[in-house]
Amino acid sequence: MEDFPRDTLLSVKSLSVHFPLPDSETAVRAVDAVSLELRRGETLALVGESGCGKSTLARAIVGLRGPTSGEVWFDGAPMAPLGTRARRALCRRIQMVFQDPDASLDPRRTIASAVAEGVELHETRSRGAVERRVLELLESVGLDAALRARYPHELSGGQKQRVCIARALATRPDLLVCDEAVSALDVSIQAQIINLLSDLRDRFQLAYLFITHDLRVVRQIADRVAVMYLGQIVELAPTQALFERPLHPYTRALLAAVPNLDAARREPVAALSGEVPSPASPPSGCRFHPRCPFVMDRCRREAPRAYERGQRSARCFLVESEFGQNADPEFGATS
Ligand code: SF4
Repeated sequence: MEDFPRDTLLSVKSLSVHFPLPDSETAVRAVDAVSLELRRGETLALVGESGCGKSTLARAIVGLRGPTSGEVWFDGAPMAPLGTRARRALCRRIQMVFQDPDASLDPRRTIASAVAEGVELHETRSRGAVERRVLELLESVGLDAALRARYPHELSGGQKQRVCIARALATRPDLLVCDEAVSALDVSIQAQIINLLSDLRDRFQLAYLFITHDLRVVRQIADRVAVMYLGQIVELAPTQALFERPLHPYTRALLAAVPNLDAARREPVAALSGEVPSPASPPSGCRFHPRCPFVMDRCRREAPRAYERGQRSARCFLVESEFGQNADPEFGATS
């Protein structure tokens, strides 16, 4: 077994997910050779515009989609193939919370039944023990026990998302993958759910892979941030460092697009213009070059490597002189 740092929980190694186009030699390269590491108890935010590949990456990590190439390691071992007993056992330790609780909850099942399903799938318990565990889980997400007999349509959006979180916790996971888990909620409810997730992380030593397009949410919850563009990670940094000094022009533009986000402390940056190119035919050289205000001739011909220094990485020639030649072609795995 290869060396695997003890505090590393998840390691994504050069993972690609490509979707072949019918009657064509080409494929949509939704995720292209992405590498990432996530430590125990850490929250890593994955950000980028819609269609950048972040949700596809999340689904490949939890096993809802098979990768085209690359590997996912969890707790020191490669993930077993989809459909195997070993993989099903591992699923207990990685749970997912989706954006839309209505799509996640069966309208015909009570709240208690929805949460109990998660308990019963992974533990053999007496009926009384399951009921006690359901009440414990509802309490842990701040829901009154009286709600257990209700149906999803009788709950608010925030309450339904709490039920989804309780159900995800039922298997005692080590990692929660939250895919836009607060995006559909009102701002005040969003803040409550973020606080809840922070409390749960500390209480149960959970790690989060937090997928969102909302940089305000990122700043509230994440320890580190990975920025995705057109299937690749273009910048990775501790949250505070990224907000104070974004290095990649794409990250700068994303931050500049959010009003009142300490913009006065950073250099002014032109807003993002143009459409995101198709991942079926990404631009030559740097994938961001058609939209980059700093584009150079070299950017059109040559794809930048990921330049790394300390906990920071950026896939851009602009940091080459600052970061030197310390580049990792697989990008993203910092310790
Ligand atoms: Fe812009 Fe060139 Fe950097 Fe790409 S490599 S982000 S085009 S400056």
